[in-house]
Amino acid sequence: PGHVLVIGAGGVSSVAVHKMAMNPAIFGKVTLASRTVSKCDAIAASVKERTGQTVDTHSIDADDVAATTALINQVKPDLLVNLALPYQDLNLMEACLATGTPYLDTANYEPLDTAKFEYSHQWAYQKRFEEAGLMAVLGSGFDPGVTSIFASWVRRHHIPQIRTIDILDCNGGDHGQAFATNFNPEINIREVTAPARHFQDGKWVETAALSTKRAFDFPEVGERNMYLMYHEELESLVTHFPEIERARFWMTFGDAYLTHLEVLQNVGMTSIEPIMYEGREIVPLQFLKAVLPEPAGLGATTKGKTCIGDIITGSTGDGAEKSVYIYNVCDHEDAYRETGNQAVSYTTGVPAMIGAALMLQGKWSGAGVFNMEQLDPDPFMDMLNEHGLPWQMVDWKLPPIS
Ligand code: NDP
Repeated sequence: PGHVLVIGAGGVSSVAVHKMAMNPAIFGKVTLASRTVSKCDAIAASVKERTGQTVDTHSIDADDVAATTALINQVKPDLLVNLALPYQDLNLMEACLATGTPYLDTANYEPLDTAKFEYSHQWAYQKRFEEAGLMAVLGSGFDPGVTSIFASWVRRHHIPQIRTIDILDCNGGDHGQAFATNFNPEINIREVTAPARHFQDGKWVETAALSTKRAFDFPEVGERNMYLMYHEELESLVTHFPEIERARFWMTFGDAYLTHLEVLQNVGMTSIEPIMYEGREIVPLQFLKAVLPEPAGLGATTKGKTCIGDIITGSTGDGAEKSVYIYNVCDHEDAYRETGNQAVSYTTGVPAMIGAALMLQGKWSGAGVFNMEQLDPDPFMDMLNEHGLPWQMVDWKLPPIS
């Protein structure tokens, strides 16, 4: 069994660390380090109570490459799992290179000052990881993550020539708060307020944020409005599967959420431009995060289900047309019972654990920087079924989303 060092102690980390501790034959030892060590200790206490396993904890500023390098040299993990924020990705990749440690994360690097959602920064590390003989796996959450694994599994076994892919992300949960985001508010609001972008015939087409809306009847959730957005896995999917003609990403939002967001945007609270306030520079979006409920605290009251998956169309090996819908449904209350976190953290933390398991077991190996769809999807699909995120695939007979 291997030893992992997990960085970050939010909802996603909590789920991943619980799940690692439930699989001691793969994860012989788990060490958890984050900015606020009390959050690590709280996760470790819950893990001890639920599984009997001990998790060592440390305090670390992951933006301090020298400090992280020293911590890695002290702890000597076989793998570093980055479940802090996208801002830390490059600094943690640097520390991994400095110490010869493989790397895995769940979200693409974001500069603090501009919301870009692109892989260029992390793809630029390809040569250095390759030369060091180290593996870096990017985006092992649900989306990105499972949605890309779904695509590569469907491509391998059912539709070798993918023409169109629509990724549909529905959170049908209700947390009982007037306004809250179900993962890190700063990242969530940046993502939702960015212009929508989809891929069509070799080009990116940009449209205004939240301007394209469709109703969709989600399995086990019901009809919800979903909106065209940009999401980082579109970039890597069309890069690695160049036959794709159209790739789009949709996410559901309730009317109340959108009304709150519109007001916050109109008054300037979602801006990432620093302003001066009482002699001190603050970023409005960071201030907003400070007054919103902590996503990790929403688990106890959240009811309902998430449903995330892909509708994929293309031609089979013998040239016939085929469309499938492949998805997972996750219940917020079941997720909370198992690890003390709601389904949005659960659906991200479980795939992070699975990606880490496959790296530790050597089922995924290689030197360089990899996106999920470049790796063997078969063992990952099996582990989703075994570890709490069972998936289903149906032939898609309804008309395509217009
Ligand atoms: P949270 O905000 O709940 O947790 C982030 C954690 O990172 C906090 O514990 C925070 O510390 C810690 N952290 C932040 N900065 C530093 C730093 N400089 N050094 C050390 N630790 C730091 O986020 P989530 O758990 O919701 O999300 C975790 C990651 O997962 C994010 O990158 C998010 O984008 C990604 N994600 C991916 C999804 C997917 O499907 N692929 C879906 C949802 C999330 P502190 O407690 O002190 O604030």
